[in-house]
Amino acid sequence: MEEQILKAIEAKKKAHAPYSKYEVGAALKTKTGKVYTGCNIENNGIQSICAERVAFCKAISEGETEFESIVVVSGKQGEKELDFGTPCGYCRQFMQEFVDKDFKIIIYQSAEKQQIYTIEDLLPHRFKL
Ligand code: ZN
Repeated sequence: MEEQILKAIEAKKKAHAPYSKYEVGAALKTKTGKVYTGCNIENNGIQSICAERVAFCKAISEGETEFESIVVVSGKQGEKELDFGTPCGYCRQFMQEFVDKDFKIIIYQSAEKQQIYTIEDLLPHRFKL
């Protein structure tokens, strides 16, 4: 998981967040061990996209279908310390389409501060067609 954490932290540095000043990085690992990263990308309209969905879209558009875990890191621009930032509701609903009950959602702040969730933890009683 160490490499995945470092990739999420690197991805956070690429965030385009001039409006919220809140940067998020994500590193999504497939079941075959490949890692796809994402950062939040804002604009001055309403079409901003979160780091988690960027990572999933990159992976899915490359043909990936099976995922093991995602590491998410977040924090205010210019601050070294990471926040406890969980995926937004839209990302939770988006992710549930592509993950199974064992998929891990890891919110990483430091070696001592990290929380691991399943999609069921974050989105119980979810809407499904
Ligand atoms: Zn989101």
